[in-house]
Amino acid sequence: FCSQSKIFHSLRPYVPLPHPSQPLSITDYVLSLIPATASSTTLLIDSATDRHLSYSLFLRQVQNLTSALQSLTPLSKGHVAFILSPPSLHVPVIYFSLLSLGVTISPANPISSDSEVAHQVGLSKPVIALATSSTAHKIPKLQFGTILIDSPQFLSMIDGTRVGIINSGVARVEMNQSDSAAILYSSGTTGRVKGVALTHRNLIALIGGFHHLKHRDDPNENDPQPVSLFTLPLFHVFGFFMLLRAVSAGDTLVLMERFDFQVMLMAIEKYKVTYMPVSPPLVVAMVKSELVHKYDLSSLQLLGSGGAPLGKEVAESFRAKFPNVEIVQGYGLTESGGGATRMLGPDEAEQHGSVGRLAENMEAKIVDPSTGEALPPGQRGELWLRGPTIMKGYVGDDGATAETLDSEGWLKTGDLCYFDSDGFLYIVDRLKELIKYKAYQVPPAELEHLLHSNPEIADAAVIPYPDEGAGEIPMAYVVRKPGSNITAGQIIDFVAKQVAPYKKIRRVSFTNSIPKSPAGKILRRELVSHALSSGSSK
Ligand code: AMP
Repeated sequence: FCSQSKIFHSLRPYVPLPHPSQPLSITDYVLSLIPATASSTTLLIDSATDRHLSYSLFLRQVQNLTSALQSLTPLSKGHVAFILSPPSLHVPVIYFSLLSLGVTISPANPISSDSEVAHQVGLSKPVIALATSSTAHKIPKLQFGTILIDSPQFLSMIDGTRVGIINSGVARVEMNQSDSAAILYSSGTTGRVKGVALTHRNLIALIGGFHHLKHRDDPNENDPQPVSLFTLPLFHVFGFFMLLRAVSAGDTLVLMERFDFQVMLMAIEKYKVTYMPVSPPLVVAMVKSELVHKYDLSSLQLLGSGGAPLGKEVAESFRAKFPNVEIVQGYGLTESGGGATRMLGPDEAEQHGSVGRLAENMEAKIVDPSTGEALPPGQRGELWLRGPTIMKGYVGDDGATAETLDSEGWLKTGDLCYFDSDGFLYIVDRLKELIKYKAYQVPPAELEHLLHSNPEIADAAVIPYPDEGAGEIPMAYVVRKPGSNITAGQIIDFVAKQVAPYKKIRRVSFTNSIPKSPAGKILRRELVSHALSSGSSK
């Protein structure tokens, strides 16, 4: 699987995809894959209200909304729509409607602060927003305004009763696979948040790979209806593509508007959940919890962990506690359209500590960060990825795109990794600036920028600090201005007021200077080693 030129190739069989020049949207592709038997099946369940939406009703709502948007708004192909909502039965309908109109969707974290939303809107330049009454106030005024998705007007749009759109039908919009489908947000390897443009082709390739997997083995008629429970947000690449995958496969999807561990356990029991895509903190919680014994979790067959590192010991403890549940790991980035590697089947699942093998049609290189030389199996270097799911680029930021994607299509992941001789990938460390708090992205540059704006702070650096429950927490090293007595608590509050809760600084250490390279770059590794060795003051 590793060629002479030290390019690693996927060991999975090649998956043929629709020809790139064929006009095709991700929605038409997904809809074409839904098994015929799914029409009477439940697609979505809202665990809070127990409301069910069948495949046939979902498709009708998508059509109603598409038709309503076509007749009531000037939205057309190439426009961008910003979406700010917690998970609900409406969100998948909104995604599919907008995508089928050729509108690029840009979903963001509904708990983002006003300034974070302003930054995202500045990047993706939407003409319209769809938001709830609790999030809409964060969105600046847009050309076509904001549609409130918890309003009676919106309900009348999706149930087809809105006056003025009766019998208007849906005018088909022809799309090229190279058109942008989604703009998701990621800070990449350095700096502030950027908008990651994923094309219809990227998503078609992603879903095509999964679909192929599903149909490799003979389906067994006695298998239970696959039911996934999503604790993942639908705006992050992991939840986003898992949603498209679930629809394409005819699965049932249970959504949780607000995460609560016990409610999750109740939902597994009630809806006989078979599969959960999760981030590592949830696996940790399941390993530690006594509550799990109170519920019948026997339907659960598989847990797929991704988004952040899953400790080998955690995976092993999980297997010991839940011997009938397979736990597999996957790895990917927003910039790779999600899953770049994964484990398949019980044998691969035994490779605890690894993130699996390269996904279908994917190539990789391990590159020595100092020499740029490609390395063979067993040696550590930066992982570069190439394949049909890799993003088109960062919107409106050619500089950052050029730094991340080279002219041959290689995506520089900023992760330090190695392949073993069987093609399993191991993530050793993160070379890039990113902090992952419960698998959510926290860009240190953004927090440093805020700290520098405080008149009592002379200099600051933010680094990841290990935490059992969250994986990592943001920790600040701060140099006070002469005469300042600002406390750790005041610094924590100062930042907390301006960022989404998951980005809060949770640890502070005072220092006399921030170590920097001659070029002025913060020497983060030095700070991380210092923090680990000294167990800094809180
Ligand atoms: P995001 O774009 O938010 O998905 O973040 C991508 C980054 O999360 C990767 O570049 C890794 O640093 C990290 N990551 C994602 N999945 C894993 C995993 N299974 N193990 C270790 N790190 C991961």
